[in-house]
Amino acid sequence: MRIDILTVLPEMIEGFFNCSIMARAQKKGLAEIVIHNIRDYTTDKHHKTDDYPFGGSAGMVMKIEPIDRLITKLKSERDYDDVIFTSPDGERFDQRMANSLSLCNNLIILCGHFKGIDYRVREHLITREVSIGDYVLTGGELAAAAIADATVRLIPGVLGDVGSALDDSFQDGLLDHPVYTRPADYKGWCVPEILLSGNEALIREWELNQQIARTRRLRPDLLKD
Ligand code: SAH
Repeated sequence: MRIDILTVLPEMIEGFFNCSIMARAQKKGLAEIVIHNIRDYTTDKHHKTDDYPFGGSAGMVMKIEPIDRLITKLKSERDYDDVIFTSPDGERFDQRMANSLSLCNNLIILCGHFKGIDYRVREHLITREVSIGDYVLTGGELAAAAIADATVRLIPGVLGDVGSALDDSFQDGLLDHPVYTRPADYKGWCVPEILLSGNEALIREWELNQQIARTRRLRPDLLKD
């Protein structure tokens, strides 16, 4: 899967994709993350990517021309499943959306900045608008990183242990169960004895019961569907 991220601040997220599981996914050839600087597609002397809003309201607005040039170029090179714009008023990102995006071949994620983006970009160039929550960030870069991270980790082979993605919180409609590692006794804080019993069947049953109890307590809304 290939994800093209379009931003005026590539340095904000380059480091993120060069670490840990995201870096490994790319090395293994399971995901290709390409970060583009929208500024490289300006044609004016000052490489302007934003301008004052018509109507005189506060804040700067991202210009349409460099974004259109970049998206048009990418679309001429391959077919994209979706051209996503990160926006607080978009569809709410969740595990279900991550699952469906993980089946895509090519995605574009456009990051807004400043006051927002010339609305014609949203009207004519975007196929989907996605929010990562009801709060306002300074730019779409963290949102793009969150969407790409949650999506790429679901691609088979990205996580070392295939099972570990399948029983994560939300994946099966339940929150995850508690996990512990050595030492079994730290300052008298002991891990549940059942986990040391070696009885595989009883341990799986305990884990499932924990998942159900924690979901009922912390997120009863998930049990309603
Ligand atoms: N004026 C806009 C917010 C602009 S914030 C409004 O009120 O809706 C600048 C940019 O940050 C946005 O264009 C978007 O790309 C990104 N952004 C901010 N909050 C976000 C969120 N919750 N989810 C996804 N992207 C977000």
